Amino acid sequence: MTRTIKIGTILIGGGHPVAVQSMCATKTTDYLATAKMCQHLYEHGAAVVRVAVDTPQDATALAKIRDLTDANLSVDLQENYRLAETVAPFVEKIRYNPGHLHHAEPNVSWTEKVRILVNIATRYDCALRIGVNCGSLDPAKKNDVAEFPPMVRSALEHADFLDSLKFDQYCVSLKGSDPFAVLDANRTFARLRPDVPLHLGVTEAGMPPEGIVKSRLALEPLLAEGIGDTIRVSLTVPNARKAEEIDAGREILRNVEMGTMISPDEWQSNRLNIISCPSCARVENEKFIELAEAVREATRFAAELPLTIAVMGCRVNGPGETDDADLGLWCGPSRVNLKRKETLLGSFSYDEIVPNLIEEIRKKL
Ligand code: SF4
Repeated sequence: MTRTIKIGTILIGGGHPVAVQSMCATKTTDYLATAKMCQHLYEHGAAVVRVAVDTPQDATALAKIRDLTDANLSVDLQENYRLAETVAPFVEKIRYNPGHLHHAEPNVSWTEKVRILVNIATRYDCALRIGVNCGSLDPAKKNDVAEFPPMVRSALEHADFLDSLKFDQYCVSLKGSDPFAVLDANRTFARLRPDVPLHLGVTEAGMPPEGIVKSRLALEPLLAEGIGDTIRVSLTVPNARKAEEIDAGREILRNVEMGTMISPDEWQSNRLNIISCPSCARVENEKFIELAEAVREATRFAAELPLTIAVMGCRVNGPGETDDADLGLWCGPSRVNLKRKETLLGSFSYDEIVPNLIEEIRKKL
């Protein structure tokens, strides 16, 4: 039994129903559009809606968004832990990524940054999420060999540190784009820390239906084993279809309840795999969703190739999270960067990128 934590009007963990979450993909500074999307997701059944905040302008917008929606809001701060002070009065939960605490102010230790976050969360009655992500790991943990995968060690280290500060209103997530790695990491963490509530998700699962299949492969077995207190199905869909994430999450809960879970055999790992981020306020160009769809259409000829193509919407996570893909695209405002593994091949306009990607694939045929 995990411990119970409060996120605004809901409780998670401790045997409470599994909460389904989603995230806004509108620009946070466009507070009217963001509030409208938060409210839409809330009315569709989202127990918590996450909003990205990277700048003081985003933080100012969040105060206005708070007044315009009933949703329980979670704020995603990436490396901008200092903005927590400004946004905490308006949100119910703060998500931080341990891997991003090393970029800004490198002379301030991660423990000091987390201590600041904990003090703020305590003062404003916010829950915290330690959101570990496979593509943006703590550099100190990335390459060393140890008993548990780096993702698990990072989550354990931060959970231990929050415990040492006597702060217990936190949950943990261990996400990645490989559903089987997500499955293993969450199983391991739940075995070592059965008391900590878990938020489950496969990042960059991609477009439906494949994105739903990948999420099912990880989430259904975990939930059936009693692991997981909240879930999000990340889907690359236009903003108007974002509530499909909630539908897919509910479908997963139903499958687990009815015993109609997906079989791992339904996934052929030696075929073309397109991973793409669900987009968020950080997306650099609104053409991103169209680009992901265009990549899928243009690469159908390579369906049987054992190839992973990553399509990412911004520079925050794009460069790191395309490193492991055979071919990676990450978007800037007017150019898209094309990579083979960690090597940058060039940057192209939104009109030129797909033909250049195809040329790179054909080199392998
Ligand atoms: Fe948002 Fe960038 Fe992550 Fe895509 S890659 S979800 S745009 S932070």
